[in-house]
Formats: sequence, structure tokens, C-alpha cells
Amino acid sequence: MSELVLIYIAGAGRSGSTILDEILGEGRGCFSLGEMRQIWKSFIRKQALCSCGRIYRDCPFWSEVLRRVFGKDAPSSGELEEILRAQRVVENIPLLSEGRRKRYLASHRKRLTFYRNLLQAILREVREVSGAKVLIDSTKHPHYLYLLRELEDIRIFLLHLVRDSRAVAFSWLRRKYNPAIRDYMKRHHPYTSTRLWVRFNWGVHRLQEVFSFPYYRLRYEDFVRAPNRELARIEETFNLQGVFPRIEGCLKLGEKHLLGGNPAGFVSREISLRPDTQWLKEMRVRDRILVTLMSWPLLRRYGYPLFPTFGGKN
Ligand SMILES: [Zn+2]
Repeated sequence: MSELVLIYIAGAGRSGSTILDEILGEGRGCFSLGEMRQIWKSFIRKQALCSCGRIYRDCPFWSEVLRRVFGKDAPSSGELEEILRAQRVVENIPLLSEGRRKRYLASHRKRLTFYRNLLQAILREVREVSGAKVLIDSTKHPHYLYLLRELEDIRIFLLHLVRDSRAVAFSWLRRKYNPAIRDYMKRHHPYTSTRLWVRFNWGVHRLQEVFSFPYYRLRYEDFVRAPNRELARIEETFNLQGVFPRIEGCLKLGEKHLLGGNPAGFVSREISLRPDTQWLKEMRVRDRILVTLMSWPLLRRYGYPLFPTFGGKN
């Protein structure tokens, strides 16, 4: 395999992507990037921690990558502002309307090209420094697929991670401390988190219709229930047989350099997967109804029951 492979985990936030990223990153010749989109705002500007526990200047991996890309420790504050402006342009690409998207892409071509070239340079150096053949990016925003498909010498495999919208909305309601940002994570009302869930998942479907990446849709619940079966299916779909680890009880994770992950990925070095049932017991009825009404077409498409019960199959 001479071409670099990038497995892009797309979908909505709080779907279990950090843990999936870390497990895939244990594979032979694989490297977990975490959420690449966090590199500028959180990691460099806010001095958040890499999953190795260090800020960017002290992380041996990212400091080397940044030095190679910029010829110095990191971009200047002026350059960083320019990069963040371009990143906002990327993250505002209209996902659902093709007409609006075409006009938007045409009018922002310069900034989009700038950001794509930057991404290309970073991934090239990540490959050099890590020696990896398979990179895993759990950014999740579908918007980046526009740029990724234009990268040279990189094959994009789309891993669409979905999780029951009710479990996701419940997770967004909880107060969670993230040691990587040394702060509590954002919380969203179920209406907001479900709107995002619907938009991002539809966005993935729309873009997949247009670009036809090699594609696998993984339900987080299936992954937790039968991780080895799902790992084998991912390998088969992407023609990466024998690459990923298997989980017998628990899996010991080596040191990684993930950006911007969720606290579960940050603190735990030995992981075991457990079914997620707390929301079934504790979520308020009115929240469940709201989320179900807002997301039922996709819930059905993904095979989730509209009225799940605790102890039932979900
Ligand atoms: Zn690190």
C-alpha cells in the first residue's frame, strides 16, 4: 500500500468517536489523529492538551509536525487568525442544498484552497513523522469531506458513525469535565443537539451520494455489543484485512497523540466497552418525545426502535 489511507469518522458529536478512533489507532500501521479540526483553536490557541498530556510545544509528535509545516514552532497569531477564518468558511459549507453549496464553493474558493493545501501539508508531515499508512480522523463534521476528496495521494474511507439520537441528546445534557481543555464541556438543549444530529447525519448521506467514498456505517451500539465483528466488517469494507486489533475483555491502549477528544479517551488507558443504557432509565419523557419526533426518519433508517424500552434490544 503506497497511498496513504485516511479513515474519516463522520457523524454527530457524542457518538463514541474518540473511543473508536483510539481502538482503530491501535491497528498495525495506524495513527489516531483525534479531531483534526481542533488543532488550531483548541490545541494551539487555547493551549489544550494532546492526549499524551502535553501542550503542543511539549508534545514531541505535534511539535515536530508543526515545525515541519511552518518552519517554526507554530503559526504566528496573524497566520492563526487567517487559518481560523478559512476554517470557519469550511465549516459553513451548506450541506443540504446543492444550489446554495455550488454558489458558496465558487465564492469562497480562495480560502477553501488555502485550507485544503494546509491540510495536505499537515497530513504529509503526519505521515512522515508517524510512519503510519492509515490515519484516523474523528473530526466528524461532514464539511471536511469536500476538501479531503481533493487531497493528493490520500485515499479517503468514510466511516459513518451513528448513535441513537436519544442517547446523544442525553449525553449533551450531562455536565462533563474534559481534562484536555481543563474545563467543562459544552452542553446543549435536546432541541439543539438533535438539530445538529439530524443535520450532520443527513449531510453525510448527501455528500456520500455525490462523492461515493468507500463507505461503512457503524452503529455505536453494535460496536459496543460486538466490537470484533464490526472491526472485521470495517476491515473487509476498506480492504484492510488483519490491520485492526481485536478486543477480548479489555484493550490496553498505548500512548497516543489525539487532538480534542472526549474525556473518556483522554483519561482511560485500558478500555472495555459497555452498552449504553443510562438514558433509557434517566432521560425525561418530554425530552425523549421531542428528540424522537425530530429525528424519527433517520432513527428508522438506522434501525433504531422508536419506542425503546430498558432491557429491550436497541
Ligand atoms: Zn502528544
